[in-house]
Amino acid sequence: MKSAEGLDMVQRGLKVLAFLLKKGIPHNSVGHQGGKVYLQKSNGELERTTQELKKSLKELKKANKKILKQQKAVIEEERLKVLLQMAGATAHELNQPLMALLGNIELMGMNKDNPEKVNNCMVQIEEAGQRIADIVKKIQTIRHVETRPYLGNTRIINLEQKVKTLSVEDSDDDFEMLNVILKDHHRINVTRAMSIEEAMQVLEQEEYDLIFLDYLLPDGNGLDFLRRMERKGLEIPVVVITGQGDEMTAARVIQAGAYDYLPKDKLSDKSLSRIIFNTLEKDRLQREIKEAQKKMADMSTRDVLTGLYNRRYFMEALEREVSRAKRYETNMVLCMIDLDHFKRINDSHGHPAGDMVLTETGKMLKRCVRRSDLACRYGGEEFALILPDTQTDKARMVCNRFREMVSKHDFIYNSSRFQITLSIGIALFNHSNPRTPPNLISRADEALYQAKEAGRDKIRCKT
Ligand code: GH3
Ligand code: MG
Ligand code: MG
Ligand code: MG
Repeated sequence: MKSAEGLDMVQRGLKVLAFLLKKGIPHNSVGHQGGKVYLQKSNGELERTTQELKKSLKELKKANKKILKQQKAVIEEERLKVLLQMAGATAHELNQPLMALLGNIELMGMNKDNPEKVNNCMVQIEEAGQRIADIVKKIQTIRHVETRPYLGNTRIINLEQKVKTLSVEDSDDDFEMLNVILKDHHRINVTRAMSIEEAMQVLEQEEYDLIFLDYLLPDGNGLDFLRRMERKGLEIPVVVITGQGDEMTAARVIQAGAYDYLPKDKLSDKSLSRIIFNTLEKDRLQREIKEAQKKMADMSTRDVLTGLYNRRYFMEALEREVSRAKRYETNMVLCMIDLDHFKRINDSHGHPAGDMVLTETGKMLKRCVRRSDLACRYGGEEFALILPDTQTDKARMVCNRFREMVSKHDFIYNSSRFQITLSIGIALFNHSNPRTPPNLISRADEALYQAKEAGRDKIRCKT
């Protein structure tokens, strides 16, 4: 449940309770016996419930605030990254013309009395100014996401990137009008499609940054086009440019997912430049938000150190897999994995070395299992593995492969080389003798304990 939903629910519950308390109605006396209403709970209990609800409300509010803060931080982090890349690119590009500009201004000052030299400087200054203007124009239509490597292992925005546009237009004259304007923007490529069908074929073969869409086409209208894009899951920004312009059409296409709308009689270099810049910027922001949301979702289910699922996700997944196995009458396996004498690694090589071992072990675990298996970090130096639709023999095989892989691996940290082992406890979920998730965890833990008792670097199994 999202915390906002939770808040809502608790708030609603509190309101009902407050109302009933005020009225003095024994609302919790919903039970009837022989038609007589009886009191199930005392008023003291009722107040306690209210107090508890108030407490949960406070906690939920706190959690909500924290989530919002985290979300903001993630978005800001993304922004900062892009900003730095942009700043790097701009500084790099502007450096040369700015130097020329400053140098020539200085020269001009020194040669005030020599008109020929002053003139020469003026020409160079103008050239540098033009180069700066070109850079600014480039920046305005940039797709900020495309980067290229730069000095010292960093990346900067690629200012030379092309903006690929597709014009879906059946009229030659109207296409020519758009094309003439866009030709001056040497970084904008235009491809043309004459119908919805042709556009769909083109979009299947190539990626585009922007689509200019005419409203009336031989095989449908702009709305049909937008619907087909949605069905295909295409997320390219669309700007509708049409002669059949009225406000109703504008409202409808924007409602259907178009980014912007421009009547043909308002088509000019200025209006088009503005629309391209705004659309690409809006698209970038939307991608940024989506990326941040994905990161947030990942952060709540993943362990930061190993990238595996975290304990919270593991508990949810175990519940889900147990009920699925019950429903489909299949077996599944839970494995608990614990690194042997891990404390010694920390003690002799340091905590960062221990972290490195956990990260690498996590990677090896991931390599040993199928895509449908769930590898999690259960806690400190413990991992848990859920193998859906699996029998004990298969689980033993997988675990043994993993145990061997780890025990043979040379961990290297700060020029010291060492090896580790691990112990594994396996518990089978048998649908004909179903167990609860906590029970399954206990059994896997028991098996793990036996593996440790037997001398470590071992696998034990409870069927
Ligand atoms: P056993 O074979 O009995 O499992 O011995 P052990 O030393 O592995 O077990 P114990 O439970 O005594 O110690 C676990 C150690 O794992 C202690 C703790 O400092 C370390 N640990 C837990 N989480 C982390 C972590 O995130 N990073 C590092 N470097 N160490 C961790
Ligand atoms: Mg048309
Ligand atoms: Mg342990
Ligand atoms: Mg251990």
